[in-house]
Amino acid sequence: MIRPYILAETNWEALKEESFELAILPWGATEAHNYHLPYATDNIQADYLTAEAARVAWEKGGKPIVLPTLPFGVNTGQSDIYLDINLNPSTQLAILTDIVEVLNRQGLHKLVLFNGHGGNNFKPLVRELGYKFPKMFISFCSFPQALDKGLYFEEEGDHADEMETSLMLHLRPDLVLPREKWGMGASKKFKIKSFSEAWAWAERKWSEISEDTGVGNPHKASKEKGERFFNDVTQKMGHFLYELCKADTKDLYE
Ligand SMILES: [Zn+2]
Repeated sequence: MIRPYILAETNWEALKEESFELAILPWGATEAHNYHLPYATDNIQADYLTAEAARVAWEKGGKPIVLPTLPFGVNTGQSDIYLDINLNPSTQLAILTDIVEVLNRQGLHKLVLFNGHGGNNFKPLVRELGYKFPKMFISFCSFPQALDKGLYFEEEGDHADEMETSLMLHLRPDLVLPREKWGMGASKKFKIKSFSEAWAWAERKWSEISEDTGVGNPHKASKEKGERFFNDVTQKMGHFLYELCKADTKDLYE
């Protein structure tokens, strides 16, 4: 069935007279995810999460439209990991500027970026584009922070971890290697302790901190955990999208 809120599926017949309230741009990455998950893990998660969240918003009476997922993200720290494809932050700004230009010209003045990859940092881009396109209301969200992961998963992690493995077991089990192939996702921390606190930051050289490219032990992952997290996070995201659809951007504060 053609989903009317997915741009890649809908058609000119439907869109000729259509007017959406909100564009959603999912942005992922193409990169190694431990030994066992596909390079498109972030894109697959972004596709499924935004589609389901948009469906929830649509059913509530919102008019969102999901744009096709951008498959390459910032992978500057993985330059020596085979076929991790890097887009520089300045390239992301150029791509985003062109997309915003289209939306702005055509009067679709609300855009939310769905960030499916930790290396993508949208805050400076959103600030700059908001300044250049004053009619646009641009925001972004990132799903792992939407819920308390501790209520769903036992092991902490941020890359190809228990959460991502569980989600992929739920969404695309056909693309997950058998359990005996999973690496431990062990990772090293900076010797300089301040980098482990929130106030100092430096990019990690991925190949030096993780043997299998994972950060976080995936071994307690399950399809059931993935399904439960997926359902709850898409409900929450769907409500957020609905609120954005209906928001009066001239009256945002209380
Ligand atoms: Zn990922």
